[in-house]
Amino acid sequence: MNAHYEVVVVGSGAGGGVIAGELADAGRRVLLLEAGPYRTAADYMRWEAHANHDMWWPLTFAEPAGEPGPPMPLFRGRLVGGTTSINTKVALRPFPRDYAKWHAAAGLLGDSGEPFAEADLLPYLKRVEERLGVRERTDWQKCVHTVVPGFEALEAPLKPVRAYTDHNCMRCGSCLQGCPTNAGKNTQNTWIQPALVEGRLELRANCTVRRVTIEDRGDGPEATGVEYGDAGGALQTVHADVVVVAGGALATPGLLIRSGVREAARDSSSSRLIGRNLGFHAARIVQGLFDEVQDAHMVYPITAHCLKFAQDEDGGFAVEASTLQDPIGFSTALCDENDAPLWGEPLVEAVRKYRHYIGLLTMITDENNGTAVVDDRGRDRFTFNWNQREQERLRASLEFARRALELSGAQRVLHTGPVSTHVQGSCRMGNDPERSVVNAHGESHDVRRLFVGDGSVVPRTLSVNPSLTIMALACRLAHHLDAGEHGYLSRATVAAAV
Ligand SMILES: Cc1cc2nc3c(=O)[nH]c(=O)nc-3n(C[C@H](O)[C@H](O)[C@H](O)COP(=O)(O)OP(=O)(O)OC[C@H]3O[C@@H](n4cnc5c(N)ncnc54)[C@H](O)[C@@H]3O)c2cc1C
Ligand code: SF4
Repeated sequence: MNAHYEVVVVGSGAGGGVIAGELADAGRRVLLLEAGPYRTAADYMRWEAHANHDMWWPLTFAEPAGEPGPPMPLFRGRLVGGTTSINTKVALRPFPRDYAKWHAAAGLLGDSGEPFAEADLLPYLKRVEERLGVRERTDWQKCVHTVVPGFEALEAPLKPVRAYTDHNCMRCGSCLQGCPTNAGKNTQNTWIQPALVEGRLELRANCTVRRVTIEDRGDGPEATGVEYGDAGGALQTVHADVVVVAGGALATPGLLIRSGVREAARDSSSSRLIGRNLGFHAARIVQGLFDEVQDAHMVYPITAHCLKFAQDEDGGFAVEASTLQDPIGFSTALCDENDAPLWGEPLVEAVRKYRHYIGLLTMITDENNGTAVVDDRGRDRFTFNWNQREQERLRASLEFARRALELSGAQRVLHTGPVSTHVQGSCRMGNDPERSVVNAHGESHDVRRLFVGDGSVVPRTLSVNPSLTIMALACRLAHHLDAGEHGYLSRATVAAAV
């Protein structure tokens, strides 16, 4: 086994999958390490509990850091393709104001030296959109048409979403258990698989990276490779010119902290920010009960949305229609009108009417007040702490969805508590090391040759679903690495090692 690579990428999701694929396409020698298993469309079946066990990280919670209250569930994928293999594939570009918030938060600049703006990301957004085949979903089904009157009565009409799903989508509704037709794109079937089958990319699944190795070879601390537990549990070491950590906004901070970045950086301001400014884009599903069967679980989950309130100035929440979790998710998360979990006979009654419910998904922008820390037993821990503006958005988004359902004829409205599927921002990207962990190209301010390439670099929570932005930032990072101005990738070194 050759143990020296130009680039080792940790994690194969929206960030890591794109970086590994783009660099492999450019002819770079890349090793991609993924904690979860390798699965293809042929493996996917709609078996909710099985998928939760096999393809999702065990359920994690963020604890409230302020007022006591219930913890918030955090959902993410653990398989090749990461969360993109089990997500719903809505593909939205950021609003221009999102970029302005990035600059304000962390002094992020574009290549021209001006505040980072749409022009800095647009070529990469277009490139990933094209590769993913992003298209508009106008094929609204009954469960969307049922709620159209409610949105129109509130003067906030639904519009078709854009998504990375092709015309083979049979609207089966099992996106969260993996797409069985490959109509749903992810980094596995779009960036990783072509390079893998052509022998241009080395992938090791079921391999969990324990630590980035860091040494001072005379120029200050630099990343030299990683240590990982292989599929059999044995500890392995590989060396690389560059390490890109892309474990997702929940896993990346803990990995950097356990790797000793803070110690190597002598507790610098930027290293102390690892795990700070975690954002959640908190969501909830608001379910309305209708007289007629809706079968909102047997559709492509999100064909329509309303972005009228998406930006902070307009309310700070987005609403998507129409979806329903599969039965386990549906029945374990239901709360009544008073926020109390549904239990006993009322729960049985709700589940009996499962096919009559329509769920609207609400999501709020937040102000990155969460944290990811490593506790004294070495475990990842997370907190959230809503301020008044965030609480108001949570309230307003619930109220809007409730009204939209009632005005569409719902007899009863239930909801889930807040959950997060869109974590972002725990290793902020910026030009100011006092306010960020990595620079404008994703390289650690403290440890050379160490890059972060996932949702944790997003400086402020987006007003839209984040995966397209994470992929575009990852694509930008891959091209920066391949361009080689940093002088880190030396083909001569690699050739000698082969
Ligand atoms: C149910 C659901 C629906 C969603 N729907 C949408 C949507 O419609 N549109 C949208 O834009 N976004 C959606 N998202 C969010 C989107 O998928 C994520 O924001 C995005 O995938 C995050 O990319 P990432 O690279 O940061 O992390 P991930 O995609 O989560 O990838 C991280 C990868 O790193 C691996 N990893 C972690 N630690 C290690 C380690 N130590 N060693 C090796 N590997 C490791 C993980 O197993 C994982 O595979 C959804 C998310 C969920 C949960
Ligand atoms: S709804 Fe479409 S994209 Fe989702 S799993 Fe089914 S075929 Fe795939």
